[in-house]
Amino acid sequence: MTAYEGVIRTEYHGRAGEILISGEQIQRRVAELGAQISRDYADKVPILVTILRGGVLFLADLMRSLTVEHEIDFMSVSSYGFAKTRTSGVVRILADLNMNVEGRDVLIVEDIVDTGLTLAYIRENLETRRPASLRICSLLDKKARRMKDVHVDYVGFEIPDRFVIGYGLDFAEKYRNLPHIVALKEPGES
Ligand code: IMP
Repeated sequence: MTAYEGVIRTEYHGRAGEILISGEQIQRRVAELGAQISRDYADKVPILVTILRGGVLFLADLMRSLTVEHEIDFMSVSSYGFAKTRTSGVVRILADLNMNVEGRDVLIVEDIVDTGLTLAYIRENLETRRPASLRICSLLDKKARRMKDVHVDYVGFEIPDRFVIGYGLDFAEKYRNLPHIVALKEPGES
C-alpha cells in the first residue's frame, strides 16, 4: 500500500472509506473503453458531451485514449435531491451545450448512473435536437438503484449500492481529485 492509499483510508467528512476500484484498474478500463469507442466510431467525428462536474476526469482520460477525431462539449444540470446523496429526477439545465448537435454523433460521457433519472432526462432532451446517433458511456453503473430504465452502451464498472467518491465524484463538492474510487461506509458499518 502506498503512503497515499494510507491517507485515503482515513475519514471523509467523518465517514470511513475504502478503495473499491484502484487508479490502476480505472486507467486500464478507460484504455479498453477508448479502444472500443475508437473502433465503433472509426469513420465518424463524435461529440463527447459531459455533464459537469463529475465526469471531467473520466472525459480527460477517455479523450487521450481515443484514436478518432472528436469534439467535446459540456452541460450543467441540477437535480433537486431528497438528501445530499440522492437525486429526485427533477432536473434543470443550468448551462446548455454550445454546439448544435443536429445530425451529429453524440456520446454522453458520465461519471455514474445511479437511479438513471438524470440521464433519462438528458437523453430525452438531446433526442429532441435530432442527433444522427446518441449513445451513453458511463464509468460506473449502480444497477441496483435504477428507477428509470436507461440503456448504457459503454460501462466501465458495475458497482454495488455504495456511495462512492474520487476520480471526479464528490461528497459535498470535495474529494474529486482522488485517483481511486473510494466507497464510504455508512455510519455504524464496520
Ligand atoms: P441519478 O440521476 O440518480 O442516476 O444520479 C446521477 C448523478 O448523481 C451522478 O451524475 C452523480 O453526480 C450523482 N451520484 C449518484 N451516485 C453517486 C455516488 O455514489 N457518489 C457521488 N455522486 C453520485
